[in-house]
Amino acid sequence: MRYTGIVKNQRRILCVFPGYTPSFGTFQHAFKLMGNVKAFMPPQGLLVIAAYLPASWEVRFVDENIKSATTDDFTWADVVFASGMHIQAPQINDIRARAQAAGKVTVLGGPSVSGAPEMYPEFDYLHVGELGDSTDKLIAILDESIVPPATQMRLETIERTPLHDFPLPAYDKIGLGKYLIGSLQFSSGCPYRCEFCDIPQLYGRQPRLKTPEQLTAELDGMMSQTFRPSAVYFVDDNFIGNRKATKDMLPHLIEWQKRHGYPLQFACEATLNIAKQPEILQMMREAGFITIFVGIETPEAGALKDMRKEHNTTLPMFEAINIINSYGLEVTSGMILGLDSDTDNTEAALTTFIDASNIPVLTINLLQALPKTPLWDRLHKAGRLVESDGLESNVRFLRPYEEVIGSWQRCIEHAYAPERLFERFRYQVDATYSNRIKTPLRGKLSLANLVRGLALTWNTLIYLGIKPKYRGIFWRAALHALKRGQIDTVFNMAFVGHHLITFTKEALEGEQNASFYSKHTKAPSKRMAA
Ligand code: SF4
Repeated sequence: MRYTGIVKNQRRILCVFPGYTPSFGTFQHAFKLMGNVKAFMPPQGLLVIAAYLPASWEVRFVDENIKSATTDDFTWADVVFASGMHIQAPQINDIRARAQAAGKVTVLGGPSVSGAPEMYPEFDYLHVGELGDSTDKLIAILDESIVPPATQMRLETIERTPLHDFPLPAYDKIGLGKYLIGSLQFSSGCPYRCEFCDIPQLYGRQPRLKTPEQLTAELDGMMSQTFRPSAVYFVDDNFIGNRKATKDMLPHLIEWQKRHGYPLQFACEATLNIAKQPEILQMMREAGFITIFVGIETPEAGALKDMRKEHNTTLPMFEAINIINSYGLEVTSGMILGLDSDTDNTEAALTTFIDASNIPVLTINLLQALPKTPLWDRLHKAGRLVESDGLESNVRFLRPYEEVIGSWQRCIEHAYAPERLFERFRYQVDATYSNRIKTPLRGKLSLANLVRGLALTWNTLIYLGIKPKYRGIFWRAALHALKRGQIDTVFNMAFVGHHLITFTKEALEGEQNASFYSKHTKAPSKRMAA
């Protein structure tokens, strides 16, 4: 639903989403292989706010991962809304500076300001928390006046709007064809309490839910655009945060896919104990899920206990991964270095895990303490938080800083050496991809897929098949997939591999950060939990 209050004035709202700093998980280097793709995923939160605003207010939406907001955009606007994560803080403040230079009132909402409002002293209004009573109050204030307040006003959501009352994201304001994948949200919140994670504090431990009908209406909204991604990512903090709700929702998704001829593939984030949920895994397979991002974090059981992530150990780790793979679901994983439990053996344990798990895509980051987490509180008390823009993390590690950075470098070099990466993909061809359901061709016959397919074919040949030194390694893996009829796999390993190998090279040359959340921004600018 939209805002239901009465507004007296016409307003022009410019919503600006900041650019991301590149990381392993944002796939910037893959975009050029995909033709017209310019950005990773549509920004759900700001699109929902844009859709909630009063119907009589004009809204312009700019995602700066695609193009920068222009002087004309700022001149046109009465109010500038921004949103983003901690990693985007410099870009968020840059948007504010440009808006204020144009004499506009500025509003900041989203996860970063909700976690750490003190980071943004110069915005006029801070919207802390989710869509709710503070949003209505903000709209009423802006309806009254668009003169910047004398001092900053902080509006904090006490009563959240139920997810089942959320409006459809304002997809009509953006071109979905510019994105690598689409985004969809079914639930918000996670029942666990991992020490480093701010999700439970920000979004609660009782997952809140949309209705299945909302989900399918959002999918219909995406389908109404000719040019759109062929894969959609569930941005839920933990897809099985409420297992019963997930079980009740999946049949609707399956029915939608069947009705439309399976035009989409899905991915999500979930905890590793999803391996103990065969009914959910079976339905995910039938719904066309192909990937689950799992925060495995570390192969060391003691470290998992220390970070309160014992739920990762309810099954032996490799057994859990194999079970997930047997439903055609590739596991991608987040890993952390710099933990207090790290020893001289941690680096070897991680590289051994990478090889033995055969997980192709791992985001290996340094530990970072986020505000509103138990980790932050613990390190703060111990005097182990450091605020230096010259460091890759705000944590004073127990091991020497240079040793931790050295381990990180050797681990990413190991993980993304082309021969190892494409060997893991080769393994997945037989262990995972061959277990996926065969979907009808009709759902994929679209102009958008044709254009993207042609671009991918040509660019795969150029950027992986001809140019690089590792082309022989790529071709061996590609032929292995082609012999089994997996053309999609060839494209997938091409664009994922190209990004990971290029990003690793840049990181080893000191051009990229060792932590997704690092303030130490080296690359021009672009959340994952569970
Ligand atoms: S890391 Fe994942 S499982 Fe742990 S609290 Fe955060 S969302 Fe939940």
